[in-house]
Amino acid sequence: MLSKILTILRKISKIIAENDDQAQVLDEIVKVLSKNLDAEVCSIYIYDEEANELVLSATCGLNSDLVGKVRLKPGEGVTGTAFKSGEIVNISNPEKHPRYKFVRGSGEERYKSFLSVPLTVSGRCVGVLNLQNAGDVPFTLSITDVVKSVCTQIANLIISSKMLKVLASESEPGAKGLARKQKQVIVRGVSANVGIAVGTAVIYVKRDYFAEIKLEKTIDDSKEILLLEHAIKAARKETSELGRKAVSLISEADASIFDVHILFLDDKTLLDAIKLKISEGYTVESSLKLVNDDYQKKFSRLQEQIFREKALDLKDVLLRIYKIVRSIRGAETKSEIEVEHSRQIIFTNELLPSDLFKMPIDKIAGIVCERGGATAHVAILARALNIPAIMGAKDTISQVRANDEVILDCHAENVYIRPSENVRAHFRDLLALTSSEPDDSLLDKDSVTEDGTEISLRANISLISETSVLRRYGAKGIGLYRTEFLFMIREYMPSEDSQYQVYLKIFKEVKGEEVTVRVLDIGADKPLPYVKIPQEDNPVLGWRGIRVLLSQKELFKTQLRAILRAGAQGRLKILFPMVSCVSQMIETRQVLSEVESELHAKNIPHSDNYKVGMMLEVPSVIFSIEEFLEYVDFMSIGTNDLIQYSFAVDRGNEMVSSLFNPLHPSFLKIISHIGHVFKSYPGKGLAMCGEMAGNPYAIPFIIGAGIRDLSMGPKSIPPVKRVLRAYTVKECEDLLDEVVSLHNPESVECVVKQSFIRKGLKNLI
Ligand code: PEP
Ligand code: MG
Repeated sequence: MLSKILTILRKISKIIAENDDQAQVLDEIVKVLSKNLDAEVCSIYIYDEEANELVLSATCGLNSDLVGKVRLKPGEGVTGTAFKSGEIVNISNPEKHPRYKFVRGSGEERYKSFLSVPLTVSGRCVGVLNLQNAGDVPFTLSITDVVKSVCTQIANLIISSKMLKVLASESEPGAKGLARKQKQVIVRGVSANVGIAVGTAVIYVKRDYFAEIKLEKTIDDSKEILLLEHAIKAARKETSELGRKAVSLISEADASIFDVHILFLDDKTLLDAIKLKISEGYTVESSLKLVNDDYQKKFSRLQEQIFREKALDLKDVLLRIYKIVRSIRGAETKSEIEVEHSRQIIFTNELLPSDLFKMPIDKIAGIVCERGGATAHVAILARALNIPAIMGAKDTISQVRANDEVILDCHAENVYIRPSENVRAHFRDLLALTSSEPDDSLLDKDSVTEDGTEISLRANISLISETSVLRRYGAKGIGLYRTEFLFMIREYMPSEDSQYQVYLKIFKEVKGEEVTVRVLDIGADKPLPYVKIPQEDNPVLGWRGIRVLLSQKELFKTQLRAILRAGAQGRLKILFPMVSCVSQMIETRQVLSEVESELHAKNIPHSDNYKVGMMLEVPSVIFSIEEFLEYVDFMSIGTNDLIQYSFAVDRGNEMVSSLFNPLHPSFLKIISHIGHVFKSYPGKGLAMCGEMAGNPYAIPFIIGAGIRDLSMGPKSIPPVKRVLRAYTVKECEDLLDEVVSLHNPESVECVVKQSFIRKGLKNLI
């Protein structure tokens, strides 16, 4: 549901940003709501305080000629009733409502369901939003929930536009100039991260030292070569230091960006090219410039974005050498970035990973970069550092001034410079909706059901840096470590040793708790630059997960060796993705024992008491669980893929997202069946690590199905714990029994919500 709300809010924010005229904004909003909520009619009435009337201000579905003309007193009609009472009215056959008022010429007689929601903000009602449909059943609970959430936004919009009207009528001619000077500007780019950032602008325009260099010749090329070699040595040292700083801030995986720099510094072809220019009589600086120009031209001709982005890394390295050369010669080139206040949004024409690490990262709220795409290293770094970032926002710097207020919306890929009051109000609410401090009131409480059954709550992570929040949210170890990120950020296969270092760090961070490491789940949707994946018509059904690993044995074995070696330092569980046939599991076990024997033969310390598991995420497994259990110690239900494959609904496709629902009774039957089968195998583990495990509404059903081991995004742990502590296992079983006979997810949601109210969990609804 949250994703639906966010989709609508995103669309509304775009409408507000792109239209100055309030009537136009409301017109667009009713269209968006009607489309996204499957309502044939959506109308907005605004309260006119002077006339004490509600005025039809926008409609999609009714006769639009009546906009501005239909006026209702508070208490008049269904709309007036909702307004006066401040309560939602959700009815069928509205003509039977005691306050019904027929609006002639509107065409509303066709519609038999009527939802009327007051537009209220801070206790003040400013209008009403109506939805109408032909069917004579009231709107579902989930639709009313979505409408309730977006109504606050619309109410804010109305209030702020009223405020602007007052301001406009009071303003002097001179004040208009001021308004123009402060006009909002919106620029668009590509999101390199999720999230919203609010802050003030800092402009960081990089000087292009290479463009400024005038070519100079020297007569003593051997002195220049010596200078170059000295500078390269110093650059290597500086690069390692930057890498160390990066490691202390994030993780080895992310700092590996600097490995690429070291590779450039060691690259013989590159160094020979610089030396060749020196031997032609150029100074080191001029040689660096010529080589850079040459490589930039070559890179820009390459088709693949990822290679073009590498050009920035090369330039970064050459510039580092250049600056060292200049400082050896006694010339000043330093241009450190000073970010004085917290919550700054950096606007830059170009940003390199090393620039970012030279900045006080804790003060950076967001990044807007004119160049680069989502796969640029700096974009990956921004993700790892949890900094919202928009890349490729062309011609932005000319439109922003230092200290301008800025809102960066990575969902809509918009940057609002000097946002209007409407936009500000909109984001204030959105931020309140999406950001929440962890609820630590349950941190010391056991994760047990009301009758004392222990439920393990573990975390899903992709980065070492995420281990830092485990304790904050009360996670007991890691139930799913997705190793893909470690592989995806590199342009080359990480060595066994560098993988080992990363895994080891994770074991050390969790101090004796279990760590479930999932081997690479790559495929056409998550490509690796160094593994050639053929073009596929249906990548999701194609060469993915274990299918790739079993045909790339060296890659597979290297990862297993690194995992087993690190596992000697902790409690290891290995998890295999996308298993669909028993034969794959048999082959996987063979590979695993080969790797173990090799480590043993070489006397390399490794884990010898790890557990082997598989993801239960392909429907073919459901009816052969017993056969698979001969080869695994545990299974972890990957609900994201299991729903995708069971309902034939692409998990990444917004068009079909309404069909993706873990509360669908058919899916709950699947979960119940799996739990039932495992009851006969008490020695085998059953976990769940898909998104469903972090959904509070699903918790009673998961526990009712007999699943006692859950893994989720760390932030979901506090609400999940709150729910499970409120129920006995028997109550969960009864609830599951009750809902599996229902016909749709809305009814299941209804049952669970009523149950939450009885349990005092109203604030989770
Ligand atoms: C899943 O499919 O539910 C799962 C946890 O794996 P992923 O989301 O990484 O595919
Ligand atoms: Mg999966």
